[in-house]
Amino acid sequence: MKGFAMLGLNKVGWIEKDKPVAGPLDAIVRPLAVSPCTSDVHTVYEGALGDIHDMILGHEAVGEVVEVGSLVKDFKPGDKVIVPAITPDHMDVFSQMGYHQHAEGMLGGWKFSASKDGVFGEYFHVNQADGNLALLPPEISIEDGTMLSDMVPTGFHGVDNAEVQFGETVAVIGIGPVGLMAVAGSNLRGAGRIFAVGSRQLCCDVAKSYGATDIINYKHGDISQQILEATKGKGVDKVIIAGGTVDTFGEALSIIRPAGIISNINYLGSGDYIKISREGWGLGMGHIKIVGGLMPGGRKNMEYLSNVLKYGKLDVSPLLTHKFNGFDHIEEALLLMKDKTADLIKPVVII
Ligand code: NAD
Ligand code: ZN
Repeated sequence: MKGFAMLGLNKVGWIEKDKPVAGPLDAIVRPLAVSPCTSDVHTVYEGALGDIHDMILGHEAVGEVVEVGSLVKDFKPGDKVIVPAITPDHMDVFSQMGYHQHAEGMLGGWKFSASKDGVFGEYFHVNQADGNLALLPPEISIEDGTMLSDMVPTGFHGVDNAEVQFGETVAVIGIGPVGLMAVAGSNLRGAGRIFAVGSRQLCCDVAKSYGATDIINYKHGDISQQILEATKGKGVDKVIIAGGTVDTFGEALSIIRPAGIISNINYLGSGDYIKISREGWGLGMGHIKIVGGLMPGGRKNMEYLSNVLKYGKLDVSPLLTHKFNGFDHIEEALLLMKDKTADLIKPVVII
């Protein structure tokens, strides 16, 4: 079969591989719609996971089951399924501790396009199908469904980790698709004031439609100055970081209130250290929590998050600015994600 792969650092292309084989608990799926992710860009062009060779990319897909192992109970060939980006080993001890993302080691639940071939192949392998796949509700289109693989769960995970409460003031730094889902999630959780920090007009407009009350352009001056001025020096209850660099934590610390939470969902593809200023962190006694998390995957999360779309609480279609038809457009879609044109939020490829 053919697949679109990372050939090495800064190098992508089509390769031939054997069709994957399902173990007793697994499934083989063919993609119906896929979307490239900024994480694929960090992996290929920043070498964030090292110099990987000949690994098929992609981890956001809706697909059709073509084969299941002998012990799979709830899925059969022909089923349309949401495939989460994170497909952990649910029997690992870390899964039992509530952090299946780190089953089999740090970030070990992230397999597609990290430690095994991803979803940009004619077929791909899903471990523990009963624990990791979810049926796509017929009310959700295949392209909207791809946003359940990664964008919705990641943005919402940022909100979960920030423990957003009714009426709180939240700043979301970085409003690409992930940050936009953090804005939408904060709004669903009842935040009062939501600062969306971005620059591209389209993203700012979509952020407003998802509930942002204030737009801060980080290219028009210091974020902290702008937010502190707007809040009369009080700052914000919660910060969700979904863009920027290792230096963004400094900005977050300068606007967070005492005992606030800074919740990072950004994939830090480069930079060696995150600097936490002594003063910003309340001389070590400010009760400011800093947490960073890989999105939770697995079947339960996909089923619950699909309800948010199915019952009309969230419309992900504004994210999908570019639609392609045909497997061969995957490269074009990935390069769009790398170059981030002004009219792009997220591309989707219908196979
Ligand atoms: P994106 O690049 O489309 O969006 C990030 C935005 O941040 C961009 O619009 C960029 O212009 C903006 N930005 C850059 N510097 C900034 C700054 N200093 N201040 C404010 N904004 C700034 O990316 P995305 O697809 O939305 O993904 C966001 C991040 O989340 C990526 O790093 C991605 O790899 C990561 N990610 C993490 C998980 C997870 O499980 N935690 C899952 C998926 C993606
Ligand atoms: Zn991703």
